[in-house]
Amino acid sequence: MPDQMPSADSFLPFALPDIGEEEIRAVEACLRSGWVTTGPVTRRFETAFRDYLGAEVEAIAVNSATAGLHLALEAAGVGPDDEVIVPTLTFTASAEVVRYLGARPVFVDADPHTLNLDPAAVAAAITPRTRAIVPVHFAGMAADMDAIGQLARRHGLRVIEDAAHAFPTRHRGRLVGTLDSDVTVFSFYANKTMTTGEGGMVVTRDPRLAERIRCMRLHGISRDAFDRYTARTPSWYYEVIAAGFKYNLTDIASAIGIEQLRKIDRFQGRRTELAARYDAALAGLPLVLPARPAPDSGSTHAWHLYVVRLERAAPSVDGADGAGMAHGGRDALIARLAERGIGTSVHFIPLHRQPYWRDSYGLRAADFPIAEAAFGAMLTLPLYTRMGDADQERVIAALHDLLS
Ligand SMILES: *Cc1c(COP(=O)(O)O)cnc(C)c1O
Repeated sequence: MPDQMPSADSFLPFALPDIGEEEIRAVEACLRSGWVTTGPVTRRFETAFRDYLGAEVEAIAVNSATAGLHLALEAAGVGPDDEVIVPTLTFTASAEVVRYLGARPVFVDADPHTLNLDPAAVAAAITPRTRAIVPVHFAGMAADMDAIGQLARRHGLRVIEDAAHAFPTRHRGRLVGTLDSDVTVFSFYANKTMTTGEGGMVVTRDPRLAERIRCMRLHGISRDAFDRYTARTPSWYYEVIAAGFKYNLTDIASAIGIEQLRKIDRFQGRRTELAARYDAALAGLPLVLPARPAPDSGSTHAWHLYVVRLERAAPSVDGADGAGMAHGGRDALIARLAERGIGTSVHFIPLHRQPYWRDSYGLRAADFPIAEAAFGAMLTLPLYTRMGDADQERVIAALHDLLS
């Protein structure tokens, strides 16, 4: 019964990492090896990641996707007074990296169906100062990369993909990471489709960008300069060619990453299965279910997040009048689910609503009607590989109970 409080261990979180004995053994081996910072295991992780993508790309491990996005924009030449186009419906990291470089994020609205950034809004936001576009593959379905690529080519812009949700995701048969953008950045944060605790991977086909990113990842120390100037190099010698950053991934984290990567197809299979079960079981409820790629498109969904939206006509959930709540129906539904031990979240509070972004750039909600409407109606249901069928049944039953 709803008024029966669930015991602590029966609380269903909205996400949970899937760490096995393999990861634990790999970390132990790393710790016993005596080499714990960036070294041979990280190099193996980078190679394995590139091999998974199966393309002529370079993969550069970093300690977060945020760090990777910063490095990518820096290498792409983004600097003070440049503009970078970013969706409003994303995590703040997608935009903050633009500020790291003194550039200006220009926020754009979402497509009402996919919730990915809207190419028409991108086109309207381009000015002579625009330097780059940062598409985010919302929830794990690729943004319209054909339209974005066309705009970028026409206006001479860089495309840096925030692929924090999109491993593995296919776009018209090609994996994200092998598309025609300049750089793609993946996240291995705890709740992503695979994790290293904290971590990320930067992928690019462009050897010049790769060289700059590798160099800036570790204090601006140039290995190439090192090799160029000395034939027989003493091991203590190095050259600093820029004021770089400390963004390298440790071998401890990479050891976890290698094992997670081995499991990623199984993880992806389970996520896809859970998403299909939600689709079928929730179809009759007053919910807008997540967009999915057309079956014959060659595109796939990583199902990092399963985001539903309450339909306007949804009956008001008990307590929906909630004092001062702007989004009574959605907020009450989250509260009622939590009472039943079901964790949900909201992805995302649009950046134009966040005090820093709103006040720094004078952003107005009226300029982002799609993201505004989506935000007021959306919640993220539990979806993770260790979720059992019975766990999911609990979520489905609670939603039927509350929304029928
Ligand atoms: C998680 C996330 C990031 C940041 O990833 P970190 O690895 O935690 O830095 C960036 N963008 C989006 C859209 C995310 O969801």
